[in-house]
Amino acid sequence: MSWQMARRAERLNPSTIREILKLTEKPGIVSLAGGLPAADAFPIAAMAEATARVLHGSGREALQYAASEGYAPLREWIAARLCAQGLDADPARILVTTGSQQGLDLVGKVMIDAGSRVAVESPTYLGALQAFNAYEPDFVAVEGDADGPRPEALAAAAGARFLYLLPNFQNPSGRCLSEARRRALAAAAAEAGLPIVEDNPYGELWYETPPPAPVAAHAGENALYLGSFSKVLAPGLRLGWMLAPRVLFPKLLQAKQAADLHTPGFNQRIVHEVVKDGFLDEHVPTIRARYRRHRDAMRAALEHHLPAGCRWEVPAGGMFFWIELPAGLDATALLPAAVAAGVAYVPGAPFFADTPRANTLRLSFVTVPPEEIERGVALLGGVLKAAA
Ligand code: PMP
Repeated sequence: MSWQMARRAERLNPSTIREILKLTEKPGIVSLAGGLPAADAFPIAAMAEATARVLHGSGREALQYAASEGYAPLREWIAARLCAQGLDADPARILVTTGSQQGLDLVGKVMIDAGSRVAVESPTYLGALQAFNAYEPDFVAVEGDADGPRPEALAAAAGARFLYLLPNFQNPSGRCLSEARRRALAAAAAEAGLPIVEDNPYGELWYETPPPAPVAAHAGENALYLGSFSKVLAPGLRLGWMLAPRVLFPKLLQAKQAADLHTPGFNQRIVHEVVKDGFLDEHVPTIRARYRRHRDAMRAALEHHLPAGCRWEVPAGGMFFWIELPAGLDATALLPAAVAAGVAYVPGAPFFADTPRANTLRLSFVTVPPEEIERGVALLGGVLKAAA
């Protein structure tokens, strides 16, 4: 007997980086690699109280199978919040997903045939490349500048199934698109007949001023918009959502049904109970204040410890610094030396669908405390100086 796997399984590659990063679980290593939110910020007391209220008030419904679309009061809450951000969000267009990562997978499943073109930023979120890749697309990297993808470059992507866009504090680059660029991209995408899939898990994590309205606010139903509770409450809930164009909603719903019937109703009810009376308006500012301190600690450490020739922008939100090393240095090749020295990062190469820029890396500033950030960046600086 022999097992014959699908072509798509062959496209699911083990990540060499993940293997190296396993070593970072050793005690003593400062990991600036993982994108894990700070666990100290999880609202454990509020979750515990809400869980008790859900179990005592509607335990039977909460523990029963439920609708694939999601828990209606939560869908209404999400829609109202999106409307406040300038989106035209009818609750009937909200599909609750098991993390926004599932949203990306469902989009791939419904939108991508083998050989379909999918337009992406360069670099872009590795997890989206992985989710889409299983459906065998050909990626088209859209040319960009310091303000993100260039609207004039979208014509070259005409005919692609969609453009995947991360306008707020992008993973990995930290970059946030200007208001003007958002409007121009929405207009150019409409012109090119190119739908937009906008992913926004980090929009609430701004440290000075809120980002401009989503691109979807200028694109109507030419945009599908993905959101998540992972960064404002906790990723372990696995709770996200999409605002889908009406024309796609039924197919996305059927794909969701086939994938997992529905996102745990228990989690949805708990989260609705937590957020319904304005909890996030108090909670998210505490996360912002915490992460801003972390970001500032990393900025200071980078200025102090990284050798000349390294370049970065200070992110105005989100979780990451994106570092460009002097040309000729290869962040993937340097990772074992960094881990041996006691610090881990994510090399930039896997975030590129086109030619990778080997001299890039991503540092997360949210997971470890500021003193550890300082120590980790000092160790990284030592490794880079030795390599230069
Ligand atoms: N999109 C982006 C850009 C992300 O960085 C992440 C998480 N790292 C996700 C989607 C998935 O988030 P979740 O499934 O936890 O909502």
